[in-house]
Amino acid sequence: MKNIDELYEGLGIDRELISYAEEILCGLKVRFDRIDETAEYNQLRVMKAFSDNRVSEACLLGTTGYGYNDLGRDTLERVYADLFGTEDALVRPQITCGTHALAIALMGNLRPGDELLSPVGKPYDTLEEVIGIRPSRGSLKEYGVSYSQVDLKEDGNFDYDGIRNAINDRTKLVTIQRSKGYQTRPTFSVSQINELIAFVKDIRPDLNVMVDNCYGEFTEREEPKADMLVGSLIKNPGGGLVPSGGYIAGKQECVDNAAARLTSPGLLKEVGASLGQLSGMYQGLFLSPTVTAAAVKGAIFAAALYEKAGFEVYPDSATVRHDIIQAVTFHDPRGVIGFCEGIQSASPVDSFVTPEPWDMPGYDAKVIMAAGTFVSGSSIELSADGPIKEPYTVYFQGGLTWPHAKYGILRSFQRLMENGIAKIPAEK
Ligand SMILES: *Cc1c(COP(=O)(O)O)cnc(C)c1O
Repeated sequence: MKNIDELYEGLGIDRELISYAEEILCGLKVRFDRIDETAEYNQLRVMKAFSDNRVSEACLLGTTGYGYNDLGRDTLERVYADLFGTEDALVRPQITCGTHALAIALMGNLRPGDELLSPVGKPYDTLEEVIGIRPSRGSLKEYGVSYSQVDLKEDGNFDYDGIRNAINDRTKLVTIQRSKGYQTRPTFSVSQINELIAFVKDIRPDLNVMVDNCYGEFTEREEPKADMLVGSLIKNPGGGLVPSGGYIAGKQECVDNAAARLTSPGLLKEVGASLGQLSGMYQGLFLSPTVTAAAVKGAIFAAALYEKAGFEVYPDSATVRHDIIQAVTFHDPRGVIGFCEGIQSASPVDSFVTPEPWDMPGYDAKVIMAAGTFVSGSSIELSADGPIKEPYTVYFQGGLTWPHAKYGILRSFQRLMENGIAKIPAEK
């Protein structure tokens, strides 16, 4: 029987790289143990929610047509509400992506004349058009909802004085993005977010706070305590098994307001057939704590491997994680391209394909993406992308299993050794 190094070699990974990786991993043992403990903790929370809500075989079936009295859908929404510590939840395959979930949460809960406040700087790119920061058809701005923003301080902390000044009589909803997304600012921990929410509520107890929870779910032992938590099912909570969907967990009134936008006033959560998707939605949530743990380990391993080889990584390998995204900066386009080629070649689907930079709509530079995923565009699966412009940073995330994340990162490094960008450090 072949040993594991021989298997890696058979897949094109040099022996020197394998031993470099093993040294790196020795230094990460304690961190990885902590991550496994978080996964265990969250697995138990999931089990409690499943059992308290009596998830049954019948729940896995679902409905067609209007979808009245869909036991599985309604139970799944109870499970989400319990897990996220909220009164109710809307968890639907009809929510097309994270942006859509955020859009209906915002549009359902804001009225003409209201103001939306982001106290954490610029929101995720796609929200600019939802809000109307960039003019767009059907934006909140077109409906007379204004927007104000308070940037983070130079050191990445909240500008509490600025936030206090920005809250006015028209402020109705506060939106907090948990993950850095594709910016270079820290991702906020749950306790930081809860502190900010407490500050805002102290000024105006009637304000609603929404957290864009994308990429953050199950990276910690608790979720933020907000009026609405919003995310995508092709990221962490779908566990890689959900083909499409999003969730909004929150206060009853907020969830009903969002449901009025997703379905219709009057119909709210009563309609929306689950279309045979429930089994995957339950199973994906069940797997999510360990899948998220695998992705977090991958991010830390990539940070450590590239950092020691002399590259800029963000966050650095020592940072405690609150999301699954890892950035590596190359200051060279061949770095971004080679990294993505390596990830693509380690994918379960389309491993033989070579990704190329292309002019993606909405971007001002060419973008390269590696995503040989089972679910198209799923970023809880091993994936990487980056714009072909200074400073030539690649963003890496996901990995449904730790061994696969490790393999993908090794292939990226191997590719960068082959094209002369990376070297195994002499002094390890
Ligand atoms: C992924 C993501 C979104 C939503 O993006 P979609 O591609 O529409 O699912 C919003 N905010 C953050 C922070 C995200 O990571």
